[in-house]
Amino acid sequence: MLRHLLSDEESLSWYGLGKPSRADEVIRRLLLCERLGNRKMPDHYYRLQQENDFDELKTLPDLLRKGLFRLGDQHLEMHNNRIHVQPNRLNEWQQLITFIPPLVLQCAFLHIKRPFTDLSAPGLLAYKNDVLLPNFKYTALPYPRVPQIESYLASNKGFHDLHMHLNGATETDMTWQDHLLVPKKIYEEMTQGFRNAKVKEQFEQESRLLEPRKYFKHILIARKIKTILYDIVILGRNRSGSSVDAIFLALVNDLESDTTVATYENPFSGLIHEDPASGKPMLAEALFYIQMFNYMATQPRDFVAALFHFYLLILGLCNRLLVQQVHQYGFEQFQKHTLNGLREISEKQYRNRFFQLHGNELRNLCFLEGRFSPKETEKETLNLLTSINSGWDKLKVGIQQSNAQVNLPELSLTAHFIKKAETDPDDFIRFLQLRFSVWKKAKVLALLKKNNAKFVENVVGIDAASSEFDTPPEVFAPAFRLLRRKKFDHFTFHAGEDFFHLISGMRAVFEAIEFNELRTGDRIGHATALGLATRQWCDAMGPKILIRQGEWLDNLVFCYHLCLQSSHIALKKRMPELINAIQHYSWEIYRHYYSSAVLERAWLARKLCPVLLFKDNVADARLTSVFDEDEWAQIRSEGFSPADDVYQILFHYHLKTNRAHFDKIISIDTEEIFPSDELELVQKDMLAYMHRKEIVIETLPTSNVRIGHHYDYATYQLWNWLKWSDEGIPMPPVVVGTDDTGIFATNILNEFANIYCYLTSSGKMSHNKAIEVVAKLDHNSSVYKFI
Ligand SMILES: [Zn+2]
Repeated sequence: MLRHLLSDEESLSWYGLGKPSRADEVIRRLLLCERLGNRKMPDHYYRLQQENDFDELKTLPDLLRKGLFRLGDQHLEMHNNRIHVQPNRLNEWQQLITFIPPLVLQCAFLHIKRPFTDLSAPGLLAYKNDVLLPNFKYTALPYPRVPQIESYLASNKGFHDLHMHLNGATETDMTWQDHLLVPKKIYEEMTQGFRNAKVKEQFEQESRLLEPRKYFKHILIARKIKTILYDIVILGRNRSGSSVDAIFLALVNDLESDTTVATYENPFSGLIHEDPASGKPMLAEALFYIQMFNYMATQPRDFVAALFHFYLLILGLCNRLLVQQVHQYGFEQFQKHTLNGLREISEKQYRNRFFQLHGNELRNLCFLEGRFSPKETEKETLNLLTSINSGWDKLKVGIQQSNAQVNLPELSLTAHFIKKAETDPDDFIRFLQLRFSVWKKAKVLALLKKNNAKFVENVVGIDAASSEFDTPPEVFAPAFRLLRRKKFDHFTFHAGEDFFHLISGMRAVFEAIEFNELRTGDRIGHATALGLATRQWCDAMGPKILIRQGEWLDNLVFCYHLCLQSSHIALKKRMPELINAIQHYSWEIYRHYYSSAVLERAWLARKLCPVLLFKDNVADARLTSVFDEDEWAQIRSEGFSPADDVYQILFHYHLKTNRAHFDKIISIDTEEIFPSDELELVQKDMLAYMHRKEIVIETLPTSNVRIGHHYDYATYQLWNWLKWSDEGIPMPPVVVGTDDTGIFATNILNEFANIYCYLTSSGKMSHNKAIEVVAKLDHNSSVYKFI
């Protein structure tokens, strides 16, 4: 229950009204927070847990100080002055820091494990150099100290991270400092984000604050609290002349006249002579936390603890909007974090996040494949690339200054197009606006490569990211082909990450490969659908699911295509049922009984640019902004004519007036046609198909656990892939990435450690075997990295 300390929305609301909370009230509310996780458990179970968790934590100072220490102590350990995560607790720690950001947990741990009382200038400086800098210089994410990984890192000069988005990368404790520094700018960005209905939904889900103005006010309150606490804790001004109620009421009122809005500086930074421009604002924040814990240990005043509690609850709210929580399942919940604007200010420059990724010891990475979103003009794209590369240069200079002997990590860049929902569909072509926009951006990339080669020489990969629910792979296919012709050699595609039906996820992977014409060494991001335990997925869905009938027909046609070539007798035996179902939905959607083979051809032809495909002659085709000689030639070589069934199916597939049939929602059995054991055979057929083509899977441990129908690391699909590989089933190569290091509170070292520590602490593998798995995955990255 303690882990909910910073997500106690009820106490935050009362504080917001100027009313401090008592310990017994907080303990009551934490039980209710825990209960929200599972309402089917009777109260007496929670009562016992409450008694156990809050034993000896009866006052607010004890709740915060001893409570946070207890959480830290359960997961962390010290080696010399460095904090590490206990290897056997790493997976749990990764969950815990979604509830409470890691900096305050580590400071609660430190104030007992490495206490300091010498507040003289030399004493503070020594503590800064010996304890704060090694632990919080660039990142507040500790890692486990694992001898096998240490040895691997030393001999390989860091890990490869082959899937990392440059936006969404900054960790909470760093972003929080920007919120305190420039709350007005955060408020403006948040207001922009709030125009999106999904962001509104996120706010209403996570808080009763409901709108950006209130969040802004709370940041101002947090700043004021810190100043008051500095006065009390450092300057010894006890404020005993004012009543507690008066102080809290003053805190939440009159914020508009707060004259410090434009000129904030953490008062604690002066104590350690930390220049705010140094890019290490977490040092002063850590000092603030430690001083608070020290103070509460010696002077356990409820009033001071309540102020600190209020501050931490505001930080907790910020964290819930920045980091995907364990209760936030699935892609849509993830997407809201990318849309809310809360990292925009922190991510205008790239320097800090590169230092963060490389770790406090500047050794996490040997190779980073960063992903960025290309723009619609050359100038904007060039500016963006210049900014990214200049941030990377600063990292390299920093590394050289710290140790001239080390190997410098390499950066390569992958341009990711963004999938977007259709807001204003065209009458004749699906995703027409997005097709134009992607084509335009692809042309810009091609032009840059031709005319400004040296500025884009490290842009070596092309990707499409964001929600699969919004856009299918076919929309990007003409642009991918264009870029291949324009000498971009490497392609990857986010697919099979989240889905309505497991088969939909597998089909997305197939379409991404087939439609975008991926080749040997190209990759698929996630492909969770190809490894998720099928029984677990069926059980989680229940006996029935809702799905659009067009999507279901596409799934059936895809299975027909796959089963025709399958070596599994069980799948072959499903063909009659499959063909019947295809017939049924062919009528429901197209009002025509097309044969399965014709529907299959029409489905495969979706990869061709429909804008050109529906033009009768080249003169008309040339008038479109997406005209391309090679695409036109490829379409003509198929020999379609309006009289053909394939042409007619495609035409009606795109026709807006027919889409109501396609989009109709139907209820199907979760295991319709394919029971869970046969779904696993479909997965294995898809893996064999990728193996034959040598298409690589990028796996992203924490991201997959949060988004991909898992509850924790125990069911992560990589374990299935490792098992099947051991059984001799043909498997494509797998590489590892971090995805969104801020939203998932991780880095590449911790992602490999999450794999290693799960395998060893679950008893599934010896340390020697586990490091072999890590080494094999990282070796794949060195083979298949985009350069
Ligand atoms: Zn990604």
